[in-house]
Amino acid sequence: TVGDLEGKAAIVTGASSGIGEATAEMLAEAGASVALAARREDELEQLADRIEENGGEALVVPTDVTDGDQVDALVDETVETFGSLDILVNNAGVMLLERLDEADTDNLRQMVEVNLLGLMDATHSALPYMQKQGEGHIVNISSVAGRKAMAGGSGYNATKFGVNGFTEALRQEVSGEDFIRTTLIEPGYVDTELAEHIPDDEAQEQTKEALEQMDALEAEDIARTIAFAVGQPAHVDVNEILVRPTEQE
Ligand code: NDP
Repeated sequence: TVGDLEGKAAIVTGASSGIGEATAEMLAEAGASVALAARREDELEQLADRIEENGGEALVVPTDVTDGDQVDALVDETVETFGSLDILVNNAGVMLLERLDEADTDNLRQMVEVNLLGLMDATHSALPYMQKQGEGHIVNISSVAGRKAMAGGSGYNATKFGVNGFTEALRQEVSGEDFIRTTLIEPGYVDTELAEHIPDDEAQEQTKEALEQMDALEAEDIARTIAFAVGQPAHVDVNEILVRPTEQE
């Protein structure tokens, strides 16, 4: 709710569309200063304008999360500008669904580099600041695909299962002494641009049909879930939330 995150500084990766955009907007509404990271600078600028018009504070940092130097610079610039880093939402992701026997290995690499390595790098860069503060919150966007494997999703499933394992191991490493929280968010079907980039035509069509046929989640539904987790008092760590549209099997 409004004011809950007053004085907190957050980074949201993949803030140029979908879940990341909605999340950045909602965290800003709750009072957080928000660094907006993604590759499309124009989209980030428009979002920053909207946040500022509503009285919030935003910082645009064009970032490709597959580039370790850019990720380090994102974290440094956020801390320099806002004076702290309290929340990192690792949301940037791509879903390049293809059967493995038809897959372009560049697509497999891209998914690992964005969904998994990008998330690990950003977390690695943010941790020292959070450890120094003695507090922090890492929110990793996984998926139902991080718990349930499906034919046609081997590469995507591998990255999201990876995110789940990484997050739980990290929780055990940094929750106790460092007082750093980790939250894993696992959405089902959300109506965003994600499906637009699916390289396999049939898989793209199937995904879009599924989205159309059900009352799918909106990006705001997931943003609200994230805002709930990060809005808890510091001694409460919401470890994992799985959210499906009611109609999803
Ligand atoms: P969108 O396609 O709308 O958003 C993806 C975001 O990731 C964009 O802002 C994009 O920005 C960013 N991104 C992609 N590649 C990079 C990169 N190399 N560096 C920085 N940013 C990058 O989809 P969603 O909002 O749906 O996806 C957000 C997350 O939610 C993903 O991790 C996805 O796997 C997950 N998810 C989505 C579900 C759904 O049904 N939609 C279900 C479950 C999980 P840009 O192109 O400007 O760089």
